[in-house]
Amino acid sequence: MSDAQQRLADVQAGLDRACRDAGRTEKPLLVAISKTFDADAIRPLITAGQRHFGENRVQEAAAKWPEMLAETPGITLHLVGQLQSNKAAEAVALFDVIHSVDRPSLVTALAKAQTATGKHPACYLQVNIGDEAQKGGCAIAELPALLDLARTAGLNVVGLMCVPPANVEPAPYFALLAEHAKRLGLSGLSMGMSSDYETAALLGSTVVRVGSALFGSR
Ligand SMILES: *Cc1c(COP(=O)(O)O)cnc(C)c1O
Repeated sequence: MSDAQQRLADVQAGLDRACRDAGRTEKPLLVAISKTFDADAIRPLITAGQRHFGENRVQEAAAKWPEMLAETPGITLHLVGQLQSNKAAEAVALFDVIHSVDRPSLVTALAKAQTATGKHPACYLQVNIGDEAQKGGCAIAELPALLDLARTAGLNVVGLMCVPPANVEPAPYFALLAEHAKRLGLSGLSMGMSSDYETAALLGSTVVRVGSALFGSR
């Protein structure tokens, strides 16, 4: 096995374990977060069969992905980073899934970009689940209004996404996100990173976003 195959197998085994422990039959989707890594680091994972990748900067993704997308049909690109409204058009053109919809002005910009491009990426509403001043994400109290606005504007909202506070036990935040998704009737839960994807899978994550466990440290 190549290093990439080995790392991929390790993460998939962790997800299998968590699903078994939780009695889940459907495994979360693994998105490989390739930010800061170049094509030479990414291609071995594509060769190993990985097809979902995530980036956190539109500019970086636009520079490195078109060539790899042309080489390998069937790759799905996810945007997981904060998105400026003036980059919405470029993001809609490049990404199939956007995990960071967190404010009304961005909803408006994405809706306009959808009309212009005819593309309708799947969207997650990012929630500031730990109520942290410095972090992106919609406040919990504003979630229902943001969801209404996004749906009215024609966005395809499939779920909620969060990045819990650093250096504390993430499980309560994952559980809280799951509770809000349920309350809003949303089935998608984008939660879990390299350090906590098994915990997230135990608590119902449908998508885990894993970078360093697959690519090494940044
Ligand atoms: C970088 C990043 C990840 C992946 O982080 P790792 O700890 O490397 O797995 C997941 N989600 C978001 C939003 C990120 O920015």
